[in-house]
Amino acid sequence: MDQNRIEALRNTSVPPAHHLIDGTPCAASDGGVMPVISPLDGKQLTTMAKGTRQDADRAVAAARQAFDNGIWSGLAPAARKTVQLEWAALIEENALELAVLGVRNNGTEIGMALKAEPMSAAATIRYYAEAIDKLNGEIAPTAPGTLGLVHREPVGVVGAIVPWNFPLMIGAWKLGPALAAGCTVVLKPAETASLTLLRIAELALDAGLPPGVLNVVTGEGGTVGAAIAESMDVDVLAFTGSGGTGRKLLGAAARSNFKRVYLELGGKSPNIVFADTPDLDEAVKVTANGIFRNAGQVCIAGSRLLVERSIHDAFVEKLAAFTEGMKVGDPLDPVTASGAINSLPQLERNLAFVEDARASGATIVTGGARVLQETGGYYMAPTIVTGIAPKDAIAREEVFGPVLAVLPFDSEEEAVRLANDSEYGLAAAVWTADLSRAHRMVRAVRAGVVHVNTYGGSDLTVPLGGVKQSGNGHDKSLHAFDKFLDLKTAWIKL
Ligand code: NAD
Repeated sequence: MDQNRIEALRNTSVPPAHHLIDGTPCAASDGGVMPVISPLDGKQLTTMAKGTRQDADRAVAAARQAFDNGIWSGLAPAARKTVQLEWAALIEENALELAVLGVRNNGTEIGMALKAEPMSAAATIRYYAEAIDKLNGEIAPTAPGTLGLVHREPVGVVGAIVPWNFPLMIGAWKLGPALAAGCTVVLKPAETASLTLLRIAELALDAGLPPGVLNVVTGEGGTVGAAIAESMDVDVLAFTGSGGTGRKLLGAAARSNFKRVYLELGGKSPNIVFADTPDLDEAVKVTANGIFRNAGQVCIAGSRLLVERSIHDAFVEKLAAFTEGMKVGDPLDPVTASGAINSLPQLERNLAFVEDARASGATIVTGGARVLQETGGYYMAPTIVTGIAPKDAIAREEVFGPVLAVLPFDSEEEAVRLANDSEYGLAAAVWTADLSRAHRMVRAVRAGVVHVNTYGGSDLTVPLGGVKQSGNGHDKSLHAFDKFLDLKTAWIKL
């Protein structure tokens, strides 16, 4: 990483952000704007268009027209591939600028942001670009007098609604396969992380994506997001965010056109450490990074640590020591391990969880407080909480911050029971040297991904999706195409 360049970019002024509708930057229909506050210092970074329902409707109309006239879906797949590959290259060329802008907007540590945001988005868009001309239809094994063909067709207009923690990575998980499939998109970024998505949408135009194929409308979820969700002209919603919003989207689909709704929601993911863990120091390090990087604002964060009782105290002691060595603060400093909390309300929410636990008698082993308040930024010390019961809010609810709830267990059966005692089922991990136990645990724990002797860090080749109230559908891998391709049968009498 070029730290001099990062420092030069740190204070550059950011122009006011506009929607991108039908290939043109535009203001809100009523001229409304909203401030964009940087979590690094609590100061205003710029403003962005505060979208109206008319703005959302206009973007949907542009996407509908671009879909119906075949300007994108009607291209030869290889031609669409060329555009997407060029787009990925442009994102990579601008990666550091995008990463710094994103960090100033949402607070992720720069090292992680560079890899997980522009570089990951570019890799995702390239992955799906490369697949575009390899999506074959099927010939069904019918009787001799008939021919059954199964076509795979783009579903139409996709409403993509994404959160603030990894806007480019998660945005690309929707945009890559949706556009590769031939769909057109209206994208609604989160209120507190819109700038980089707008920037990559402009790069898509530079790469040759026709106007109207990718539209971005900024503003509030309850206005812009709701209008997209209720639209009769949106065929699919691809959503990542909270369960509360997910419920509203399902309701909006039911009240409008039964659009398909794919939800990637939250988690309270169990990280299960057995006494026979092959390398305890590695488990300590990965456990800490698995909850405290990006200040815990990671959907799959290992926020529930289950530790076999015989090593519980020693493990927690090592973990606290490691955690206290993690630098908290300025996310543009390359040695920072845990950056800013995205917004003041989110910081206050995190602290309230800890205060409730403290009031109920929990032990705050380390952290538990706001730090670096003098910077004006939103920072919280990584926090480890013990002495809690499985029924406590801190052990059940998603904090979405740097807060780790720890529970002991005495047997494999109890570990499974505790792990599954959750409304969520997004991710999990098991640390053990026993291969059979590892496989038993993978089968027994209800989650979309179960890590063994590691936490996080998968790649594009495997799907990510939740079970239970962590959602439905999958991002990543070729399975992501299923959300954006319809099956159509041609039944032909020979
Ligand atoms: P959120 O639900 O508040 O917001 C997500 C998006 O939905 C934003 O763009 C927001 O503007 C929009 N929105 C809000 N209200 C809406 C409404 N009524 N109609 C339509 N759109 C609306 O979630 P958040 O706080 O931005 O993100 C944090 C949540 O996202 C956490 O629960 C986290 O676990 C989850 N998440 C899940 C994954 C995953 O892959 N499963 C990944 C990242 C984050």
